[in-house]
Amino acid sequence: MEIEKIMQDLEKKHPGESEYLQAVKEVLISVKDVYNEHPEFEKAKIIERIVEPERIIMFRVPWVDDQGEVHVNIGYRVQFNGAIGPYKGGLRFHPSVNLSIMKFLGFEQTFKNALTTLPMGGAKGGSDFSIRGRSDAEVMRFCQSFMCELYKHIGPSTDVPAGDIGVGGREIGYLFGQYKKLVGRWEGVLTGKGLEYGGSRIRPEATGFGALYFVNQMLQTRNIDIKGKTVAISGFGNVAWGAALKATELGGKVITISGPDGYIYDPNGISGEKIAYMLELRASGNDVCKPYADKFAGSEFHEGKKPWEQKADIYLTCATQNELNGEDADRILANKPLCVAEVSNMGCTAEAVDKFVAAGQLFAPGKAVNAGGVATSGLEMTQNAIRLSWSEAEVDEKLHYIMHSIHEQCVKYGTQPDGYINYVKGANVAGFMKVAHAMMAQGVV
Ligand code: GLU
Repeated sequence: MEIEKIMQDLEKKHPGESEYLQAVKEVLISVKDVYNEHPEFEKAKIIERIVEPERIIMFRVPWVDDQGEVHVNIGYRVQFNGAIGPYKGGLRFHPSVNLSIMKFLGFEQTFKNALTTLPMGGAKGGSDFSIRGRSDAEVMRFCQSFMCELYKHIGPSTDVPAGDIGVGGREIGYLFGQYKKLVGRWEGVLTGKGLEYGGSRIRPEATGFGALYFVNQMLQTRNIDIKGKTVAISGFGNVAWGAALKATELGGKVITISGPDGYIYDPNGISGEKIAYMLELRASGNDVCKPYADKFAGSEFHEGKKPWEQKADIYLTCATQNELNGEDADRILANKPLCVAEVSNMGCTAEAVDKFVAAGQLFAPGKAVNAGGVATSGLEMTQNAIRLSWSEAEVDEKLHYIMHSIHEQCVKYGTQPDGYINYVKGANVAGFMKVAHAMMAQGVV
């Protein structure tokens, strides 16, 4: 495999799609050796096929605000790879959304979903719409307009969207209501639904909970207990919230969260009512961190800064892609942390990842660490299909099993001769091999 040549061709075909090209390059570097051991992959052009989405759907989303003004946003669904199951992946509503971001997320999702042990293909979708500052009625009208087009392309056995940044329980509810009205059927076409209408227990917490189960296993490979360790988290959304809850429950001390306005450093620990307050901040749609500092004495608001400048034992990216760069990595490494993990998708730049791996840092990528979210979505699909609701204990047990299995796959494919576990390589190779074998079995389609 000639990585430079493949990348040059892709750059020519898809100029300027920097996030997508970054995600592809990382996987190619990881899988190069195993790929070269399988000449049948080369013959079947597995790489050339796997890097291109099967289908991209783009549409306009017109809607009317509370003042009667008309707005037009762009809607996307990138159905990346359906070799191992129905397309599956979240919807992101954020002004930064563009085709490159949708494609990188769909690409990552393909391998992440393969790691979960469940039969789910990879997809991603969303819109450049911002829920910030929008009324409930505006969000509802937007979701309804978005679904008026999307419903033609999804279904419980074809493509099952869920939430991501900007899409939580409220948005899933409006999207689901409109889908049901349009097709005239109740079916498990979205995950992350409310518990009253087919949602799964633990789904809201699953990404954060799964991430902490995974981090715990990483720490165990070095005989470290999370109890009493300080944890720096970025973000304030669903993922950061779930991670803060579980980190605290396991005995860790969460000392930071962050938002668009900066970050909070709270040496007393972000636990109990402070974690509950994160949900209020999220719902308020206003500045996130400043009100926290005003409310809880002893905490500090660092305007316009990132939490990576604080000293901690464990660092978890829980906000968005490329939120931790090479400079941040240098600063973090100087603190000799016990563990760094991406909980956001591609939370670290390529430069930061290379620095962590070169330093032998205990480090793992988002597609392994955050797979508990989509895995629990898969469990929601199963419950909908068999028309049952599992108890919290049942879902949690399955989530534990899945995160354990992902960790095992990383160890199997990522352990180097010197004993260092390269989780980036392990996750990429394990996910890639499963999808590649499924594609081989199904012929050139
Ligand atoms: N958006 C989440 C992710 O990045 C969840 C997707 C899902 O549940 O389908 O994996």
